[in-house]
Amino acid sequence: MKAAVETLTPLRSKDPFDVWSIRSDFPILNRKVNGKPLVYLDNAATTQKPMCVVDSLRRYYLEDNSNIHRGVHYLSQKATEGYENSRKNLCGFINAQQTQEIIFVRGTTEGINLVANSFVKKRINAGEEILITGMEHHSNIVPWQIVCQETGAILRVAPINDKGEIILEEYEKMLSPKVKFVSLVHISNSLGTVNPVKQMIEMAHAHDIPVLIDGAQTVSHMKLDVQDLNCDFYVFSGHKMFGPTGIGVLYGKSEYLENMSPYQGGGDMIKSVTFEKTIYNDLPYKFEAGTPNIAGATALGAASDYINKIGIDNIYAYEQDLLAYATQALLSVDGLRMIGAAKNKSAVISFMLEDVHPHDIGTIIDSEGVAIRTGHHCTQPVMQRFGIPATARASFAMYNTKDEVDALIRSIEKAKKIFR
Ligand code: PLP
Repeated sequence: MKAAVETLTPLRSKDPFDVWSIRSDFPILNRKVNGKPLVYLDNAATTQKPMCVVDSLRRYYLEDNSNIHRGVHYLSQKATEGYENSRKNLCGFINAQQTQEIIFVRGTTEGINLVANSFVKKRINAGEEILITGMEHHSNIVPWQIVCQETGAILRVAPINDKGEIILEEYEKMLSPKVKFVSLVHISNSLGTVNPVKQMIEMAHAHDIPVLIDGAQTVSHMKLDVQDLNCDFYVFSGHKMFGPTGIGVLYGKSEYLENMSPYQGGGDMIKSVTFEKTIYNDLPYKFEAGTPNIAGATALGAASDYINKIGIDNIYAYEQDLLAYATQALLSVDGLRMIGAAKNKSAVISFMLEDVHPHDIGTIIDSEGVAIRTGHHCTQPVMQRFGIPATARASFAMYNTKDEVDALIRSIEKAKKIFR
């Protein structure tokens, strides 16, 4: 355990928090991989979990396990309390107006599919349009393609420039009266681009078009205020914000959610059922059919508390510093080319190394204990836009350090020597 920690640089006075202390909350960061200290730089795929999240899961199963909402007995009330308190935490975390606007879903993907099915599909006709951008994750492309196939609507794509930024003028021009819905990624998982979503939402609203924001890459990296953004829907996944897999949030403005039909039918989403007629439950339960991921939802509340304790603005400042350091270090590697050079970037760096296939780079780097992701990152259209099959991607979180960036550079240099 000690060895990995000892490789870290001591706290510098300008660091907004003590990264050593944060790392000690994440036991997995102390493990070795291939005999080397783990350097985990695959945070855009999923983040590691702090002890408070693991403890919450353990506590739930060891002490409170019971089904929620339906029981009068002690354990059922305890489980319900944990689940609903977490909803309150998350409401505060994203500054939603009311807890009924927080719907627990499996993750970003399910949240988008819910809105596609229960909202957009019901409101769109053949020949009308859904607008996305050229840097969407497949989760924010395929559900809309399915809606288009089923309704005859058309999927339009706002283009991006060579830096991987949205071309705002083109986006604005595409907001024609035919567009009935806009769905935008907040931060691109393959390019790191932070989109000016507030401005883009305003532009869409000027034409009375509702907007969904895919915040999968946002919640653990920068402050989120859904009321300030004025988005109509916002989705994110727990596992990308130090929480468990299989749990996430769909935020929706209650005026929309109230008028939407349920995504799935079953227990808990009803007030009364007869064979003739079912009366649906109130928000948010109308959208939470069946026994939910109680342990996951409860632990997601613990994850949001953990982020709040460190302070999201501190995390943002720390990661921006790390991004600047990593960008400079990577650019100094001869033959390395970065994909994605947006002015406003999150701590995600996609790169190519001469003509070495990214998978080969990933494999060599892995033998040094450095975990990065290689491939299309579920953004094949982005790869097509840049005329490449795949990239290698290092993505950072608040527990990463400059020493780990140095380890990445050393491992890339090693890969270069092998493939030269
Ligand atoms: N959107 C973006 C931008 C993502 O990065 C991801 C996952 O990588 C998703 C959506 C899908 O998230 P999930 O698989 O947790 O549903």
